Amino acid sequence: MKGLKTFSKGGIHPHGRKNFTNKKAIVKAEIPDTLVVPMSQHLGAPAEAVVSVGDEVLEGMQIGKPTGFISASIHSPVDGRVKEITDIFLVNGMKSRAVVIEKTEGFIPSVKEKSDDWKTKSPQELNEIVKDLGVVGMGGATFPANVKFAVPKGAIAEYLIINAVECEPYLSADHRLLIEKTSEILEGIRIIQKIVNPKKIAIGIEINKPDAIDIIRRCAAAENLDLEVVSLKMKYPQGDEKQLIKAVTGREVPSGALPIEVGCVVSNVGTVNAVYDAVVMNQPLYERVVSVSGLGVKNPGNILARVGTPIRQLIDACGGMTGKQIKVIAGGPMMGFAFYDLDTPVTKGTSGILVLTDKEVAEAPQTACLSCGKCVTVCPMGLNPTKMFKYIDHSDYQGAMDTGLMDCKECGCCAFTCPAHIPLVQGMRLGKKMARKKKVS
Ligand code: SF4
Ligand code: SF4
Repeated sequence: MKGLKTFSKGGIHPHGRKNFTNKKAIVKAEIPDTLVVPMSQHLGAPAEAVVSVGDEVLEGMQIGKPTGFISASIHSPVDGRVKEITDIFLVNGMKSRAVVIEKTEGFIPSVKEKSDDWKTKSPQELNEIVKDLGVVGMGGATFPANVKFAVPKGAIAEYLIINAVECEPYLSADHRLLIEKTSEILEGIRIIQKIVNPKKIAIGIEINKPDAIDIIRRCAAAENLDLEVVSLKMKYPQGDEKQLIKAVTGREVPSGALPIEVGCVVSNVGTVNAVYDAVVMNQPLYERVVSVSGLGVKNPGNILARVGTPIRQLIDACGGMTGKQIKVIAGGPMMGFAFYDLDTPVTKGTSGILVLTDKEVAEAPQTACLSCGKCVTVCPMGLNPTKMFKYIDHSDYQGAMDTGLMDCKECGCCAFTCPAHIPLVQGMRLGKKMARKKKVS
């Protein structure tokens, strides 16, 4: 379609498979009797538990405090009692401390009252609320939102860009939020506008969400919010900050630089909704919408679940598995993690749970590199994935770093397109881990 924006370098067009869930209204999951709440649900230093075994906790009470500048608060999703504090494994294989809470019998979630008080608060006070109530980026990166919103001295936020791209196949949680919670999203944008003070606000939405484009455009106009709705061509990984900034503004974020260095602050739709909940409803971030999808689940849908709920329960809420599943992934199929323990809890970063069958997972044997160059063509960061992979394969981490390993976004475009089925992304992840371990820079 003419006139639609997108980023210029690389990218791919995987099958969207959004139709499993994008017409399914958000449904609340049942709250389990026992919730396992990890202290590491965000990028940066894990939170430190501030409760002990046997303590009574209340819904929304802080149970984990941040331990650094880049860290986040954790809050109890229910009234209950701390049963245990233990180590668990998260879906990405990382170990985390977790507070295990036994829900109080008969617990009924509180009904929050909307408050307009935020309009009288200063930008700093609003950002303190965002921090205190544990809001992090909900698009997958889980970077503490208050840190992102604090524009450094001397820098100017020319653009606040709302990321409504949701380009990972299967996922539709943000799409549903745009349609079902439009006025909350618009009020959340106004709050972030007050904190960040941008010259312009834009929201980037891919054209496979025409209903969302339409409702946001109409409601923003009706509410006199000066919001540019940018319709984007469908292309993966447009939801990445750098690609979205390029698509919306034409600006290029240099290697190693942050969006603010080109005058941009980017915030995901789920994060905007969490900011609204925190500031207007005084509700800490202890629940999120998760898309549960794939041919291996009987009745795919979008589920609002409390943090700490076992993933198994979300699949059960969608009718359970069909029995034909061969893989379960947390997140999207491009950047998510395959995992095995269905008792692993939902966290602030769980955007999707995919139960996939052999019709959806192309399992093919790996062969030698064909030197076709396809991985180079599709890399949105302009890297040479095959070259980096070869360095990593030969344990030459310095060579991989010198070829731009740390610029790799682990987007999976290279692996998706590789006819030799070389596990390029796993290679990049391993290479980064080893480079850090060996202190190679
Ligand atoms: S995973 Fe890394 S190397 Fe591969 S396409 Fe994405 S950014 Fe490029
Ligand atoms: S796409 Fe695969 S086969 Fe082609 S050059 Fe890259 S790694 Fe080699």
